Amino acid sequence: MEEDKQIQKKEEEKPTGVRFEEDQPYVMPGIRRFQFFTNINDRALTINLNRAAMLGIAAILAIDVGKAVVNKNPQTIYCYECRACYGTQDKCPVGIAFQAELVVSARVTDYNRFLRNGGLKCIRCGNCQSYCVQYLNLPQIFGTMQLQTMQALREGKIPKSMVQNAFEKGLINQAFIDEVAKFLNA
Ligand code: SF4
Ligand code: SF4
Repeated sequence: MEEDKQIQKKEEEKPTGVRFEEDQPYVMPGIRRFQFFTNINDRALTINLNRAAMLGIAAILAIDVGKAVVNKNPQTIYCYECRACYGTQDKCPVGIAFQAELVVSARVTDYNRFLRNGGLKCIRCGNCQSYCVQYLNLPQIFGTMQLQTMQALREGKIPKSMVQNAFEKGLINQAFIDEVAKFLNA
């Protein structure tokens, strides 16, 4: 009984925010391990900052993944942005140099970036796929984004100057050229 009282008194005398070895869990007989964050309970600000940071990270991840799924291009989530696909080089029959740019623009439906990098020039031959470390179905990703870009163009969601720029640089392939020319002349 007396011993219990002494232990309780000792506990009460402990300063807050300090870790003591006897409070840490055993990981092996005779060896205790100091756990991360065990003493932050007394620091409300730190806890709330941690929560806010975790919430922020979770929200960004959710938006990133959610957007790709909503845009019907879920494979783009798996792109590491490693740029190994740039190794395609002259194996790309239409001379697209930056395939990863097309993948990333498809992930976030960035029409300008897609047009700038020759997205509407791609003929979906699939030559670049074997250079992708994830073996993503690049022709399918690019094809889906091409349809979305053309739809956005019809709905007036893409500024004419962007399309004009791609047109003048020869970044539109045969499949889309008529409709793009009509759009520019309207
Ligand atoms: S799929 Fe498109 S980007 Fe890839 S090699 Fe063929 S034309 Fe080039
Ligand atoms: S090689 Fe594949 S994973 Fe890497 S950037 Fe290109 S598309 Fe993305």
